[in-house]
Amino acid sequence: MHSTSDLHGHTVLALHAHPDDEAIFTGITLRRLADAGARVVLVLATAGELGESRVPLGPSETIGRRRTAELERSAALLGVSRLVLLGRRDSGLPGWTSGAHPRALAGADPHRLARRVARIAEAEGAETLIYDDAQGIYGHPDHHTAHRVGHGAAELTGAASYQITVDREHLAARAPGGHLVHGAAAAAEVHYGRPTEEITLAVSGTAADLARKYAAITAHASQVAPEHLPPAAFEAAYGTEWYRREGAPGLLDRLTQPERVAQPVG
Ligand SMILES: [Zn+2]
Repeated sequence: MHSTSDLHGHTVLALHAHPDDEAIFTGITLRRLADAGARVVLVLATAGELGESRVPLGPSETIGRRRTAELERSAALLGVSRLVLLGRRDSGLPGWTSGAHPRALAGADPHRLARRVARIAEAEGAETLIYDDAQGIYGHPDHHTAHRVGHGAAELTGAASYQITVDREHLAARAPGGHLVHGAAAAAEVHYGRPTEEITLAVSGTAADLARKYAAITAHASQVAPEHLPPAAFEAAYGTEWYRREGAPGLLDRLTQPERVAQPVG
C-alpha cells in the first residue's frame, strides 16, 4: 500500500528526552522508517527517573530500571535496531529541586552531549536526525535540552534534521484535551505545539502502523494507563506526527502518505 522508497542502507538517529516520548511523538515515523528498510538508532537522554509509577514496582526495581525495560519493549515494537542510553537524569518540572541534581539533563552541557550524539551518528553513518523543536514540544526543561543537543549534533554532522512538534490546531479541532501532551503542558504550565502553518511535514500511517504505535505507548505501563488512550479517539490524537524540517530534505521526506486511516485501534 505504501509507495515509500526503499530505505535499505540508510540510517536515521532519533533523540528523545524520556522513555515514552519515542512512542508518543514519533512511533509511526520510526516504525515506517524501519519497515522501509532504514536502520533506526534511538538515543535516550534519560531513563525518566522522576515519572511516578502507576504500577507496583518489584522489590529491587527502581523506576529508572522499570522504564528502561519498558523502553526496550517499545523500541522493539517500533523496529529500532539499536538503543543507546546517554545516562543523564530526568530533571523534573521547573521549580523542582531535581533540576539541580548533578546528572540532571537540564543542567548538562548541551555542547558536550551534542558531540557525543554526533559521534554516534557519524559511527552509524546516520544521514537524518530527529529531535525536539526549539520549544521542546511543550516546554519541559529536558525537552529543551534535547533540542539543543539534537540541533548541535545536526550542525556537527551536517545531517538532515527534523524537529518534533505537535500541530496545536489539529489537536484542538480533532482531539481537544485528548493527547498526553495536554496534561504534560498543563503540568509544566506552558503552551505546546505550533500552528499548522509552522509545520513542514506530517507523517501518518496505516491502521497497522497505528496499532503498533498504540502497543508501543502502552508498553510504558508505568506511565500510561489504557484509559488515557481510548481506542475510538486514538487516531484523532495520535494518528499523525509533525515535524519542522531544518535544511535539505532527509529520509522522512521519502515516506509517502498512505491512504487515511479510518479504523480506530483496539
Ligand atoms: Zn518527555
